[in-house]
Amino acid sequence: MNRSVPMLSQLRQAYFTEHSVIFYGLICLAGMGFSFTQLKPMDALLLLSCGWLLYLPQEYFSHVWVFHGVMPKHKTLYRLLYRLHLGHHDKPRRLDLLFTPMWYTLPALFLNIVIYALLTQNAARTAALSTGLILGYLMFEWWHLVVHSPYEPGPIMRYVRNQHMGHHHWNERRWYTISPPALILDVLFRSGGPVHQAPRAPSPSTAGLDNQDERLCAARLYYQDDSDWIEEASAIWRSSIEVEAKTDKSAKSPH
Ligand SMILES: [Zn+2]
Ligand SMILES: [Zn+2]
Repeated sequence: MNRSVPMLSQLRQAYFTEHSVIFYGLICLAGMGFSFTQLKPMDALLLLSCGWLLYLPQEYFSHVWVFHGVMPKHKTLYRLLYRLHLGHHDKPRRLDLLFTPMWYTLPALFLNIVIYALLTQNAARTAALSTGLILGYLMFEWWHLVVHSPYEPGPIMRYVRNQHMGHHHWNERRWYTISPPALILDVLFRSGGPVHQAPRAPSPSTAGLDNQDERLCAARLYYQDDSDWIEEASAIWRSSIEVEAKTDKSAKSPH
């Protein structure tokens, strides 16, 4: 029996009910409509692809320099970083901590739009580039959700999952990429390679902090009620956690 099919429909539901996906999805549709009515189809396609290419290093460097950048000493600043990314390392099965918050993505989008407008001096070209950028971001969020779920994807995403699990459980300073074409950046900046050949970090789930660190405990407390199921996982992982618990039990119980 193929168990991956019902999981995929659950994933689609989780993805398409996420408010930032709906917001950026609508902007994308409007941007595509505008680009294709104002530009020649080939020009629009080319600029959309360029927008995606421009997104890829932003995915990588946001993860390296911002998400795993300076560890804030102040509790409130740490809490912001916890919501931005470190909470996802702490509770990787929480949907409310998995999607990037719009208070980060929206200013980043505005900055991109301003730069494209200055460079192209043309509204349609700016729209096409920005739409390609947003499409890249939306694909990233989908692929990130997939690699964290029990859904069995094809060989490329299985490879990305292996690398990303290395980032979560082996060394948080390696394997920063989710979008497959951005894997080249992990190679170029020497943050890739076979997972178990890399040095093991002491605590990738807390990004190096002590498990009882005051800042971490305060952030956990602040967000503990935001999950739609339990503090460790969102409801989408309910069935897989129950299966794991059963497997654990039957493995331990004598026949
Ligand atoms: Zn992740
Ligand atoms: Zn990370």
